[in-house]
Amino acid sequence: MAKTKQFKTESKKLLELMINSIYTHKEIFLRELISNASDAIDKRHYKALTNSELITDYEIFIDIDSDNRTLTITDNGVGLTEEELVNNLGTIARSGSKEFKEGLENSDLEIIGQFGVGFYSSFMVSDKVVVETRSVDSELGFKWTSEGTESYTISETQMEKPGTKITLHIRDNNDETEENFDEYLQEHAIKELVTKYSDYVRYPIKMDVTKYDAPTKEDEQAISYKELATLNSMIPLWKKNKREIEEVEYNDFYKRKFNDYTDPLKVIHTKVEGLLEYTSLLFIPKKAPFDLYSEKFEKGLQLYSKGVFIMDKNKELLPDYFRFVRGLVDSSDLSLNISREMLQKDVQLKKISSAIEGKIRSDLEKMLKNDRETYNEFFQTYGINLKYGTYDGYGKNKEKLQDLIMFKTSKNDGFVTFQEYVENIKEDQKYIFYATGKNKESILLSPQMDLIKKHDFEVLLFTDDIDEFMINILQKYGELEFKSVNQGDLGLLDETEKEEVEQLEKANKNLLKQIKKALKDKVKDVKLSTRLTDSPVCIVSGEGVSLEMEKVLKSMPTSQDVKADKILEINPNHELFKMLEKVQETNASKVDTYAELLYNQALLIEGIQLEDPVKFSNLMIELMIESNK
Ligand code: ADP
Repeated sequence: MAKTKQFKTESKKLLELMINSIYTHKEIFLRELISNASDAIDKRHYKALTNSELITDYEIFIDIDSDNRTLTITDNGVGLTEEELVNNLGTIARSGSKEFKEGLENSDLEIIGQFGVGFYSSFMVSDKVVVETRSVDSELGFKWTSEGTESYTISETQMEKPGTKITLHIRDNNDETEENFDEYLQEHAIKELVTKYSDYVRYPIKMDVTKYDAPTKEDEQAISYKELATLNSMIPLWKKNKREIEEVEYNDFYKRKFNDYTDPLKVIHTKVEGLLEYTSLLFIPKKAPFDLYSEKFEKGLQLYSKGVFIMDKNKELLPDYFRFVRGLVDSSDLSLNISREMLQKDVQLKKISSAIEGKIRSDLEKMLKNDRETYNEFFQTYGINLKYGTYDGYGKNKEKLQDLIMFKTSKNDGFVTFQEYVENIKEDQKYIFYATGKNKESILLSPQMDLIKKHDFEVLLFTDDIDEFMINILQKYGELEFKSVNQGDLGLLDETEKEEVEQLEKANKNLLKQIKKALKDKVKDVKLSTRLTDSPVCIVSGEGVSLEMEKVLKSMPTSQDVKADKILEINPNHELFKMLEKVQETNASKVDTYAELLYNQALLIEGIQLEDPVKFSNLMIELMIESNK
């Protein structure tokens, strides 16, 4: 008895798209089906490593029946159980990808062309698809039939051996749209498609093809006969000679294999021979996967041994800071039936891993030097990983990574490396300055920048949460220390200037004391500022935890109660200060109110939430009323 089931909503959408598609490269359906067949054989092959009964002569077979207008693709891979049929062909297998879902809403041509849409693409060329399959884990076979509408049917069927047979009922030509589907029933066209898209598939793709015998003297006519031929060369792309591979081949391979719809930003193909032997084919995706920073994201490279797939995501092969790299490693040094636990300890694998790390790094260094535009794009997308890498493990990788890191600066709209910063440093500058904030505009406007701007020093702009943590680990670049414009003494005053401020502080000891007392434990100190020129007040932090770090730590899920030491700085050259001096003489109690107001204003400028906004607002209102009495 056949059971009828409904497709999931998303699948319906995609199917509808497929059926009504005006996409011109419908031919890709064959690549998708062959690739599925090859994956299924991979899986069987892997199972066979521990179950020799599953070993067989793996192959994919294509058959054309032009009388009945069917094209059949058969494989002897793992096959599907009834449950897998429902789960895998009743829903979109790739729906995990956000881009894919977004693509569904947008333009059909884009997703079909660039993403590859798997099994469902068969409905671009067929009006009915039949899947007969038997899992290696089952004695029974199942038949799945659909005309691509709302539903599909499943029924039991007898199958002698495990594997999957997909029969496409090829559509009739459509005179209205001038679409011709006949080519998918033509031998030469199918042969061409296999070599174009599936040449490197590792299993033979076979078809009964027409051969001709040369005519003999007696008989002028050539004799044609059918012979089973293998259509693909079976050399995996990564095994081919680099010089013979064209860019589009890399790009197509990448997109198909890693379900991306854009060409990669960078391809790194390496063959290493000698003591250590391996081939790696790595890609840096142009766009970061949407879940790159989620906990669920799994980094890793595919692992092959002599062309045979062993494992999908081997995480030992990539350090965390290169987690965005995709690709594969094929090595003859690894044994095939090696277990995951053994792999972790495998010495060869460790060596390969460190060689790969070095190779990615040196290619990035080259890119930074020779192709700055691409590197900028790279850094914008992935720079944060390198920053984490520098910070991670108490900075054990900082030497390796620090020269790949860049920042925007107060003087530069583009990115600048530490080295470039140092090369352009001013003679009287003793530190590498940085300022933390939301963006360039807000940093440039902050009071702490007053004096720096006057000196015309360049300041690195820290806009990522990780930046300050990373710099705390780095401490220095070469001989130069990093210094926050917002923290401690900037070292910009000469001896006489310092003396002047000290004198002023002494003279105004009582005023500063009263302000400090009014603010109680809100601030650690109240000082006359040496960094302000135009602004009246600012909040800075002492050494140690900075204001920005406090914000970051507070926002973390495991919120820690770490506080920065806040110091209220008052500009002694500002009118406001003179006013305060006067008020203390004439109406000392007012100073307390003003202290509260100034403190809150400084917090606001710094983007820190006020502890008691209602109180602040009431004080302001009182002040307004009073001044107009
Ligand atoms: P994808 O190949 O990207 O996963 P598809 O829609 O092409 O997406 O296929 C969905 C799933 O159906 C596959 O992941 C696989 O589990 C299963 N499948 C497809 N074709 C075959 C096949 N020939 N043999 C076994 N399983 C298959």
